[in-house]
Amino acid sequence: MTHDWPCHRCGTDNVLAVLHLPHTWTNTSGNQVPVVSKFVLCARCDADDPLTGPIVTHFTVLRTAQPEDVAQLARDLLRWIGQARPAIPDENALKAEVDAWYRGEL
Ligand SMILES: [Zn+2]
Repeated sequence: MTHDWPCHRCGTDNVLAVLHLPHTWTNTSGNQVPVVSKFVLCARCDADDPLTGPIVTHFTVLRTAQPEDVAQLARDLLRWIGQARPAIPDENALKAEVDAWYRGEL
């Protein structure tokens, strides 16, 4: 499996899969803005994660396509997709910075 971009964390091309998660953000005008978050599955960075480790193991160690392996891989992938959440801006942190800016502390 090859991809056109390296892992954004380690910079290597050990990317196994990329999950594109479409969702919307509300901008300051209150409009819904469609965005797509990308979740990279990296053989190097995600091998030790309990959620993604089994998927990495499947691609890097097993390399088999037995029906029971595929069923397990599908379950692991669905679990990973189910846990993937877009990054949500921390409104409290943003407000604190704005308040500090108004007070002239920034
Ligand atoms: Zn990586």
